[in-house]
Amino acid sequence: MRRKASRPDLNGSWRDNTLLRPNPPQGGVISPLLANIALHGLEEKINDFAKRIDYRDNKGNQLGWQRKVKSLNFIRYADDFVVLHENKSAVQGCRKIISEWLLGIGLELKPEKTRLTHTLNPELSEDGKAGFDFLGYHIQQYQSGKHKSARNTHGEIQGFNTLITPSVGKCNEHQQDLKRIILKHRSSPQTALIKDLNPVIGGWTRYYTNSDAKTVGELSRQDQLTYLKLRRWAKRRCGNINEGHKKYFITIGGNNWVFATKEELANPLRLLRHNGDLVYWSTRKGKHPELPNRMAYLLKRQKGKCPWCKHHFQEWDVMEVDHKKPKALGGRDEMENLQLLHRHCHDEKTKKDMEVIRKQDTSRFFDKVNKTLDKYEWRWINDILMTWGYKANKGSEVPQ
Ligand SMILES: [Zn+2]
Repeated sequence: MRRKASRPDLNGSWRDNTLLRPNPPQGGVISPLLANIALHGLEEKINDFAKRIDYRDNKGNQLGWQRKVKSLNFIRYADDFVVLHENKSAVQGCRKIISEWLLGIGLELKPEKTRLTHTLNPELSEDGKAGFDFLGYHIQQYQSGKHKSARNTHGEIQGFNTLITPSVGKCNEHQQDLKRIILKHRSSPQTALIKDLNPVIGGWTRYYTNSDAKTVGELSRQDQLTYLKLRRWAKRRCGNINEGHKKYFITIGGNNWVFATKEELANPLRLLRHNGDLVYWSTRKGKHPELPNRMAYLLKRQKGKCPWCKHHFQEWDVMEVDHKKPKALGGRDEMENLQLLHRHCHDEKTKKDMEVIRKQDTSRFFDKVNKTLDKYEWRWINDILMTWGYKANKGSEVPQ
């Protein structure tokens, strides 16, 4: 759900978010595939309904059916879906249509999973809470001053902003995951702990990259909570916190509490931060005070991703410039032929490149041998392959 691309125009809308559960007989969760098939038909039904909703302009005139259809948003993902509309009655009407339609195929709306809420005003929501959760996001609108306020598609000030943030549930879940890993590594080396934590932190942060998680300070909050857990881990191992800090934390770029190994000071193994800045900077502006121009340019061109492993670069990753086509194979030293890779990905690629280069060297050798031998006339004589001079030398005779 990329924020810019698909954020619907939620002008203080109502929404109805529902999880489907099968009615009869096993009572298990409906499979996402079945839900997909079922809900596909539902979408058409809702569009049909949208054409007939009571939706008027300021003067009280009914709007045309195209605008009515456009005014109702139905967003679904597997068995979870959202209905958005400016008018509560339209959402309620939609709920009725959906219930009836689902009953027809043996499904029902689960009341405790269905919420009718207002995206801006908590008093208007059924349960007194504004906004809603969808796909791990919390989507809500907030009142704001006119300078900071969002503008609608006509450029008019709306008086509120929409924020899409990680849902509270997902934030807590993530910290629980980290806690479990840290507990598991009560007595493992720091390297093992970092290696287990990094993919989890990286994955979670990547999922929320395009949300407002950073804007509302959720990423630095996650870092702070993680730090407290690691502080306890370090203290437990060293007996006191000062020793723990000395042993397990280092200073990098003005940040005093980077959880990192000390063995390899030139290239320490560092814990990823949720709130990493470098890649954000570079991909946005194509420059960063700590990055050489060429690398910043490549980073921006690659949209912050390593083409080898397809993952985003994190603040602490060591990056290296690679020749896509190796120079040994005729690749040029031009921007077109350059790319930025993780150091470990670069190592992997170089290994593969070397195989190709070696193969090519070998084949070049045989090629040369073959071409040379090809110039000779060859005959089998008494089961022995023998040559009798050059092919070009037509006058020569093979002995009988
Ligand atoms: Zn990579």
